[in-house]
Amino acid sequence: MAESTSRSIAIVGGGVTGLTAAWRLHARGHRVTVFEQADRLGGAVTTVARDGWLIESGPNSMLESPQLDALVDELGLGAERLYAAPAAKNRYIVRDGRLVAAPMAPHRILTTPLFSWRAKLRLFAEPFTRARVRPADVSLAAFVRGHFGQEIVDYAINPLVAGIYAGDPETLSTKYAFAKLWEIEQTHGSLIRGQIAAMKQRRARGEKPAARIVSFTRGLQTLPAALAAKLPAGAIRTRTAVVSLSSGQPWKVVSRRDGLAATDEFDAVVLALPAPALAQLSIGPAGETPLAALARVDYPPVASLFLGFRREQVAHPLDGFGALVPAVEHRSILGVLFSSTLFPGRAPEGHVALTVYAGGTRQPDLAQLAPDALRQRVLADLHDLLEVHGSPVFTHTTFWPHAIPQYNLGYERFLEAMTATEDRHAGLFIGGHVRDGISVANCIAAGERLADAAVRHLAR
Ligand SMILES: Cc1cc2nc3c(=O)[nH]c(=O)nc-3n(C[C@H](O)[C@H](O)[C@H](O)COP(=O)(O)OP(=O)(O)OC[C@H]3O[C@@H](n4cnc5c(N)ncnc54)[C@H](O)[C@@H]3O)c2cc1C
Repeated sequence: MAESTSRSIAIVGGGVTGLTAAWRLHARGHRVTVFEQADRLGGAVTTVARDGWLIESGPNSMLESPQLDALVDELGLGAERLYAAPAAKNRYIVRDGRLVAAPMAPHRILTTPLFSWRAKLRLFAEPFTRARVRPADVSLAAFVRGHFGQEIVDYAINPLVAGIYAGDPETLSTKYAFAKLWEIEQTHGSLIRGQIAAMKQRRARGEKPAARIVSFTRGLQTLPAALAAKLPAGAIRTRTAVVSLSSGQPWKVVSRRDGLAATDEFDAVVLALPAPALAQLSIGPAGETPLAALARVDYPPVASLFLGFRREQVAHPLDGFGALVPAVEHRSILGVLFSSTLFPGRAPEGHVALTVYAGGTRQPDLAQLAPDALRQRVLADLHDLLEVHGSPVFTHTTFWPHAIPQYNLGYERFLEAMTATEDRHAGLFIGGHVRDGISVANCIAAGERLADAAVRHLAR
């Protein structure tokens, strides 16, 4: 619904965070301008359709959330929404060079070959853990080791973190990267008792036991494209990088397009940018860069390889979401998604599609190998793990120089820098994957939060 006084807001960054904020502000009657330095919108969300293949170069899927459901309805995308195929329920983890199904229900832990008896005993003893008082944040690995022992770190947490962050549990902060686990320990002591209590609460509230995995028939790009299509003509400026802001009433936003500078005035500014861009941004009258510290956020490179094969080239049934590889297995790949099992329409008839990730905190140099050398390393792993034979019939490689920010120990200094900058400059709002969580669902929630904050400020 339009609000009484329409105000002008600059949104810097045309990824999921910026576009969600823009749509929310526009829907409330404000005038928005989205500045995006690239020639396309969506940021990390990048779907490519080519020769019958549907490639997700960035994120492959999203987790369902109330905000996502609401957006899908408002944007009229219900008919295009896809939920992950039932077969994708299985998740594999590599142990001793073989794919082992991860135990997805508590009773499966007893029989799984993924963990030794010693590790299973530690798991079953954990609910009797006494509550502990932690004076300070610890790494995720240290946190989980304290509850379950090293084997669970090696064969559950390490691969999980490779799949989510392309990161390393020895350096990731529990408090910032896995805030829910941190809170459960604070309130229940035992993580298992806490999870059971949370499950019971969800059931009592009539909520689904777990969020579903979602995409669209034409891929994730559908979401940013639909958000952008809802904005009025002229609201989006692609190939336009914002270089400086000066605060005040009004805000002055200096941008560059094709080497030409332009200055525009706004009532408020939303920054939905990656850390390196925030670090460079001059904010204030004298060219200050108050977010310069964010240049030190750890953002390891990742290579994403989408590989297409004829079905008969792959012996593995590909009956799952994919496989994650623990660091102790000493492989080149972090994991592989069975993309054509996950959602229909990802590969031509008679073919399968795999998406492989390499690099990350574990092996940043690998992501930067020449494409042919990287492909050989990846194919060697796929041959051993999935019995993939021969060369792919289709390849699409994407290199992400700064893929995902690592919420490592000490991350609070970056969060504090963002809060301090907002506090110093009324009408400035900062958010997105650097601050609000790294998943697409987190970024949708971030866009909503930023829009609400801007509206509250403008109503004063
Ligand atoms: C390889 C990969 C796989 C992933 N897999 C998943 C997954 O499966 N599921 C999941 O939920 N999440 C996944 N993620 C994470 C998720 O995709 C991102 O965290 C999220 O999309 C980030 O959205 P954002 O809008 O905050 O930032 P971005 O998407 O980074 O958008 C920021 C935008 O700002 C623009 N910009 C930069 N500087 C300027 C400037 N000076 N002026 C104007 N514009 C500028 C950039 O060009 C960019 O478009 C993955 C990420 C990557 C890289």
